[in-house]
Amino acid sequence: MGKPTGFKEFDRKKVPWRLPVVRINDYDEIYTEPRVEQLQEQGARCMDCGVPFCQSNAGCPIDNLIPEWNDLVYNNRWKEASERLHKTNNFPEFTGRTCPAPCEGSCVLGITNPPVTIKNIENAIVDRAWLEGWIKPNPPTSRSGKTVAIVGSGPAGLSAADQLNKVGHAVTVYERADRIGGLLQYGIPNMKLSKEVVQRRVAKMTDEGVKFVTGVDIGKDIEPSQLQHDFDAVLLACGATKPRDLPIPNREAEGIRFAMDFLTGNTKQMVHGDSDSDEFISAEGKDVIVIGGGDTGTDCIGTSIRHGCRSLVNFELLPKSPDDRADDNPWPEWPKVFRVDYGHEEASAKFGHDPRQYQLLSKEFLLDDDSKVRGIKTVKVEWSRTDDGGWSMTEVEGSEKEWPAQLILLAMGFLGPEQYVAESVGLEVDARSNFKAEHGRFATNVEGVFAAGDCRRGQSLVVWAINEGRGAARSIDIYLEGYSDLPAPGQTMGTSMEISAS
Ligand SMILES: Cc1cc2nc3c(=O)[nH]c(=O)nc-3n(C[C@H](O)[C@H](O)[C@H](O)COP(=O)(O)OP(=O)(O)OC[C@H]3O[C@@H](n4cnc5c(N)ncnc54)[C@H](O)[C@@H]3O)c2cc1C
Ligand code: SF4
Repeated sequence: MGKPTGFKEFDRKKVPWRLPVVRINDYDEIYTEPRVEQLQEQGARCMDCGVPFCQSNAGCPIDNLIPEWNDLVYNNRWKEASERLHKTNNFPEFTGRTCPAPCEGSCVLGITNPPVTIKNIENAIVDRAWLEGWIKPNPPTSRSGKTVAIVGSGPAGLSAADQLNKVGHAVTVYERADRIGGLLQYGIPNMKLSKEVVQRRVAKMTDEGVKFVTGVDIGKDIEPSQLQHDFDAVLLACGATKPRDLPIPNREAEGIRFAMDFLTGNTKQMVHGDSDSDEFISAEGKDVIVIGGGDTGTDCIGTSIRHGCRSLVNFELLPKSPDDRADDNPWPEWPKVFRVDYGHEEASAKFGHDPRQYQLLSKEFLLDDDSKVRGIKTVKVEWSRTDDGGWSMTEVEGSEKEWPAQLILLAMGFLGPEQYVAESVGLEVDARSNFKAEHGRFATNVEGVFAAGDCRRGQSLVVWAINEGRGAARSIDIYLEGYSDLPAPGQTMGTSMEISAS
């Protein structure tokens, strides 16, 4: 334990983001350089409680050894902190920037005080490790002679590749996009996760022997059966890329776009410097409406503001969350409370108010004389409890309203993976059209074919994708070798377990 009285002496203090009025002028990361003393104080606040909920199931999905690295940071032992962090997390620089930090929601100190700034500490440890040159290519000393193909290069595919390569298997990752990273590359914008940070990790993995093949769509350019034939095992980590649509009148009008098309086009323009690309969708000078909240909605807000939109409104169907935990949302659950993310902060700085409008149901897109979108009609809704404990929604009479917009972005979540790979392989899917494979085993109904990440669990989080990639790597290793030295999530590297393949 760092400092026994630390939690009494120091208040929670987050590493600040850059000022919104400054950062909206560029696509650089929103973060500022942390002060070492501040991080040490935050590490000192960790109580080293008997049962660290932060690293258990209610908290960190990859069981990061949080109290241990809090203590190491407090004691200025950063290199050891980095080693400890990498035992459970292949990519702390991704989670340190993007994770919503369920660990902080279940921090024991959080019962009575604001929790430890765990995510800030994680990010600072790994950034320092890169800066100091402690993270270096470390190829395996011997090769197993076994080969694995991975379809999809998001955090699930990458973490599986990293783990499988460590134990000597020859891994090839196929990605249909022109760059590796999945939603880390084309999804989450640069201001939240720099593409240089993503490509730095990819370069290290390449140096360690992982083979990356971009611009190849499995199921279109190469048949999955070819991979089954050429490799000893196949992992599907294709993500959940089918967006939820809004089938209301005039949906086909020009100016109504899926959030992912907008965000992908923007990042492609940024990394390739091609402002005339057909894929780029400009929000400049437009009244923009973003339908749907969450990370995707926030990223559309931040990106539209950087384009120079004229106005911005964000519709949410649900009511505003409470400021504090509700009675039915106790610690250590994830707190469902009102949050101000970076995009909301930026909209407030630019337009003087939070962009969110709650309890709005979209009824109809409105068209101009050229059949382009000119706005949207909404109605207010009320939510009430039903007898069986569910929720029912009713429209409020007379609450119809028209909103002007020349660009409407649909950010209402995702409906699961595209089906062409599953159909080609003969894969069973579950009721939500996700690839069917039990968490922990990750094996599908097809011999030698595994599934992990969003394509298996539905649209989720980077940290869960890492959890699944690591777990799938272990299952594949067992399938190939009959046993595995790779850890299951919750165990650290080096835990040897004899489990027979089945
Ligand atoms: C805009 C946005 C912002 C987000 N922000 C956050 C955040 O801040 N924090 C957070 O924790 N989570 C966030 N998420 C969720 C998170 O990004 C995902 O849960 C995570 O990336 C899933 O990882 P994955 O590896 O399963 O799939 P993905 O990251 O989706 O990667 C799948 C990859 O597979 C490729 N692929 C698919 N089919 C084929 C094929 N047939 N052949 C070849 N390649 C194929 C795709 O091109 C893609 O690159 C966000 C999601 C979105 C959409
Ligand atoms: S990965 Fe997420 S949940 Fe785990 S320690 Fe980091 S911020 Fe917390």
